[in-house]
Amino acid sequence: MNNLKLTGRRPGDSMRVIDIGGVRVGEEFVVIAGPCSVETEDQTIRTAVAVKEAGAKMLRGGAFKPRTSPYAFQGLGLKGLKILDKAKRETGLPIVTEVVDTRDVSWVGEYADVLQIGARNMQNFSLLREAGKSGKPILLKRGMYSTLEEWLNCAEYILAEGNDKVIVCERGVRTFETFTRNTLDLSMIPAVHAESRLPIMIDPSHGTGIKYMIEPMSLAAIAAGADGLEIEVHVDPPSALSDKDQQLTPDEFKAMMKRLQALLDFMGANAANEAESARKGDALPAGSPAGTRAVGPQGPRDPFADAMD
Ligand code: PEP
Ligand code: MN
Repeated sequence: MNNLKLTGRRPGDSMRVIDIGGVRVGEEFVVIAGPCSVETEDQTIRTAVAVKEAGAKMLRGGAFKPRTSPYAFQGLGLKGLKILDKAKRETGLPIVTEVVDTRDVSWVGEYADVLQIGARNMQNFSLLREAGKSGKPILLKRGMYSTLEEWLNCAEYILAEGNDKVIVCERGVRTFETFTRNTLDLSMIPAVHAESRLPIMIDPSHGTGIKYMIEPMSLAAIAAGADGLEIEVHVDPPSALSDKDQQLTPDEFKAMMKRLQALLDFMGANAANEAESARKGDALPAGSPAGTRAVGPQGPRDPFADAMD
């Protein structure tokens, strides 16, 4: 990919680390969780407290909802942002929320710690430029019909405005498969790490649209080296005003987080053992995938590592 002057990765380049109120994306594994939409203060704050207790490091919640139908719930707007602000004051969790209009970027940025640009707006170039000018960390979701090159070029629009705080988020693409809401493309994890310096998160909620797939896809994302996850959680999913079929309850989220942590711990211990073996000059066991390239949040993820050794 030739034209990624700022986003592209060259041999020797390290991954970017993005500090969001002390949460270091690209260095630590980060789970963003919260409701699809901010609906009420009670719903949002109860969800925020629960996801924090379960280990989420940031709170998501839409105040501006890009909906398929103009008659569907469009979000609470400013009222929603004020609720998110209150949830932040109660939990300390940084806020991730979507901005859909160039005119809103600066004032939404007063409430958001991370501005999300949704799949439907990935190639809204004026919005990307405005997001770049804001200097805020940006979570850039992959458009549902977009290639890796198109997606990284959209990140480049933001970086070209002097804002290098971009995290990309895979959320599934449209394919012939209709069983799942989208086809979650986990191959983008190593691809983004190979082609760019940006951290990549995975959104298995929109990526599958099916509750029982969220945990297996999250585990797979961790195993493939994702930098984090974005997951929808609602205190009462059947009553949700948007995406009720894919939101986890706080209890389901908490149980899943325990199993994700077990995998993260295993991978961290494994990476530490490998580093120790490498330091001592031990040969790696035959057939070890780590012998060719270690993966995982705690492991080296440098696709050029073999070439540079
Ligand atoms: C969302 O995360 O709230 C959302 C609308 O996701 P996407 O833009 O990926 O559809
Ligand atoms: Mn949603």
